[in-house]
This record gives sequence, structure tokens and C-alpha cells, in this order.
Amino acid sequence: MKIRVAKSAGFCFGVKRAIDLALKTASGRNNVYMLGDIVHNEDVVRLIQKAGIKKIRALTSGKNRLLLMRAHGAGQKVFRHALALGYKILDATCPMVKEIHRIAKDMEAKDYRIIIVGDKNHEEVQGIVGQLKQGPIVIPDKGRLPLTAVKKTKKACVVVQSTQNLQKSLYIFKTLKKYIPDLRFYNTICRPTRLKQKEIRRMPKENDVMIIIGSKESANTRRLYEISKSLNEKSHWINAAKDIKKEWFRGADSVGVSAGASTPDITIQKVIAYLKR
Ligand code: SF4
Repeated sequence: MKIRVAKSAGFCFGVKRAIDLALKTASGRNNVYMLGDIVHNEDVVRLIQKAGIKKIRALTSGKNRLLLMRAHGAGQKVFRHALALGYKILDATCPMVKEIHRIAKDMEAKDYRIIIVGDKNHEEVQGIVGQLKQGPIVIPDKGRLPLTAVKKTKKACVVVQSTQNLQKSLYIFKTLKKYIPDLRFYNTICRPTRLKQKEIRRMPKENDVMIIIGSKESANTRRLYEISKSLNEKSHWINAAKDIKKEWFRGADSVGVSAGASTPDITIQKVIAYLKR
């Protein structure tokens, strides 16, 4: 059986940068704290905690504490609140997420209502919302257009959560164009996500079976899986090698492997080794 691994499988630049920054800072200290998970992957969270970084669910007194801001970013209120409590901040927000913040703030300053294509419960989207003075419109998918709010809007700017599906985002933009006379669109899907999506549109057609590796908490892994499944029924989403079932490969000559942006290389290598065996 041929095993074909996506070139873009695994850590993206932003996640790698956040983890390196966290591990470097944690070395020799015991006062580094992380609000929530640094990325959506249990192995990475364990690695970070093993390095001595403590995970907290809410901010308490920050005296002599260093707070790690995760790759997805956070709203300005969170930063201000942390500083007011006495934390020093180590900002691991991905530069590509910061670019979305910059565009959204600039366009809001030019009186454009901001529309975010993304999942409103995801930290990245909450971080974008938290940069703005006026509440933006958040659209999770094409079937859930808030028409009343959209019809009232004359001038708007669309930004996209960095890991969204491009085709879906363009479809939403085209639909919004029917209602909003002055509408701008910024494709803020990051480069690593674009590469992943390009490969995941090709690989399921070229392989008998597809394996997508990543945590069930990871939104970008979910999107890879959804695209793969829509193109090849024999697509499987696994967390690790132990989830693989031998019967998936009955009669298969090839398997394609991809992985979400927060999946560590070691997890991918273990899956490949298992498939080879
Ligand atoms: S998925 Fe893109 S935006 Fe998100 S951390 Fe990775 S590189 Fe940055």
C-alpha cells in the first residue's frame, strides 16, 4: 500500500512559534501561566505543562506571574485585565492573526461594519471581536446569514477566521454582495491553511483511503476532515495511531495522510510507522 503524506501536514508556522516561545520562556522559571490551552491538541498541552507552565481557567492575582497568550490571540479587554491584575504578558499570538486584528480595526476606523466569517465560539474569532468598538456580525456558515442585520448594513468589510474554508467564505461574500452596496473582502485565511486546503482538495481523489490526524478539539483539523470526506467517503479522522482500524484498508492500494496545524510531528510519525507495519 502506498502511503502519501501531505507536505503541509502538522504544525503551522504560528503554532510552532507559540510552542517554541513557551518552552524557551518556561526553562528555568516556575511562574509562567497559560489562560486555556496554547493550541487545541492534548499532546501539545501536556508537553507545555511538563515544561512547568501552569494552565489556568480564569485570571486571578498576577503578581510575579508571566501570562502566556496563545496563538489564537485574545481581545484587548483580556490583555488590559491581565495587566491590571499585575501579570507580565508573553504574547504568542500568531502574526497572521494579528494581521486580521489590524485590518478589522483599520476598516472599523473607516466606518466599515466588520463581518467575520468564522465560528463565534472559537478563541480566534472572540479575539477579533475583542479588538472592535462596535459588535461585528459573525457568520459561521452560508446557511446561517443574519439577514435582518445584513440588510441594515450599507458599508461593511469581511474578514475571515484564519483556518476557514475559502470556497465557503467566497460564497458568503457573494451572497452578502446582494444586500450590502459597499462591501470589501479581505481573504485573511493564512498561508499554511491555504496550502493544507489545496492539498486536501487533491489528495482524497488520488488515494483510496484518507487519514486526517488531529485532536477532536481542533477546528482546522475538522475542516480538513470535512473537505476530505466530501471528496472521498473513506476518510477517517483520528487522534493517534491507536484509533486506526485495519478494516479501513481492505482492498486499498494507497492511503493519503494529512494533519491539522496543531498536530505534533511525533504523532504523525507514529501513524506513518503504524501504517507501514
Ligand atoms: S493556522 Fe495560520 S493563523 Fe493560525 S496559528 Fe497557524 S499560521 Fe497562524
